[in-house]
Amino acid sequence: MRYHCTECSYIYDESLGDSVDGIEAGTKAEELSQCPACDAEDSFYPITEEVNYFDEKSEYIPLIDAEHYPIVEVIAWQCTVQIPDHAMLDEHRISSISLYDEYGDMVEELFLQPEVVAEASFDVSDMDEFEIRVRCNLHGVWGKKFQND
Ligand SMILES: [Zn+2]
Ligand SMILES: [Zn+2]
Repeated sequence: MRYHCTECSYIYDESLGDSVDGIEAGTKAEELSQCPACDAEDSFYPITEEVNYFDEKSEYIPLIDAEHYPIVEVIAWQCTVQIPDHAMLDEHRISSISLYDEYGDMVEELFLQPEVVAEASFDVSDMDEFEIRVRCNLHGVWGKKFQND
């Protein structure tokens, strides 16, 4: 999730942390006692993310979409996600892979460090429908919805 500080306009991205202030990637906003930029307390407001959804009907997938396309496999209620064609560098990487329920609420988020393999695994056993979101620290968020049958 990303948050906006209502006092100073600073944007905090949980998947990146804040290297200047020594906040590790994956640190939840609620774990911070104050805004790293202006020290205000309780000033974070969640940013509604704009999700790019893949158009399954189109035969043509633009390169930027293809790069962020998650390959998803569900076996025995375990969902495995891989993003094989994306860079995993500090300045450009998949910074998190997350599982959302059918109402658009986040169930689980896995944060990824540079140089690791972009993959995740989630338990989807009690979900009829779910969504996988892939966050790139440069390009934004991509989403793909699935029926569990
Ligand atoms: Zn602030
Ligand atoms: Zn990217």
